[in-house]
Amino acid sequence: MENLINLYIFGDEYGIPELRKCCLNTFFAILDEFNTDLPNSLHVDHVFMYLRPTDPLCQLLVDAYCYWANPATYTIKEGKPGYPIEFLRLLSERYAQQLRKVDRNFQARSAFGICDYHEHGGVVEKQECQKKKGEERGRRG
Ligand SMILES: [Zn+2]
Repeated sequence: MENLINLYIFGDEYGIPELRKCCLNTFFAILDEFNTDLPNSLHVDHVFMYLRPTDPLCQLLVDAYCYWANPATYTIKEGKPGYPIEFLRLLSERYAQQLRKVDRNFQARSAFGICDYHEHGGVVEKQECQKKKGEERGRRG
């Protein structure tokens, strides 16, 4: 997890969008498919120290916590830094957003997708990417 985060930050610092995208895809797949523990407070603190809060990785962390965190996730080891304020602010905003959806539709959105973090130029580009992803998934069986 830590290496992936550092690689992503490296890609951001040196302006390598393909590396960033590759890291995001891997990160998402690890969380979504392998049911791994969420990044801890140290990881989150590191990410928010180096990246803008609007960065796709920051957004992904917020969404991942919103969907998969449980009380144990928030355990902070003694002497270690807690979660950055900006992360907590975005997280509460995200929870509120989800609650509003539940309120309106009587059900929560069931999932979020990797394309939410690809910074696609528009709906068409996003749909093409999702189509490509679907085809890749089909080939893998
Ligand atoms: Zn995409």
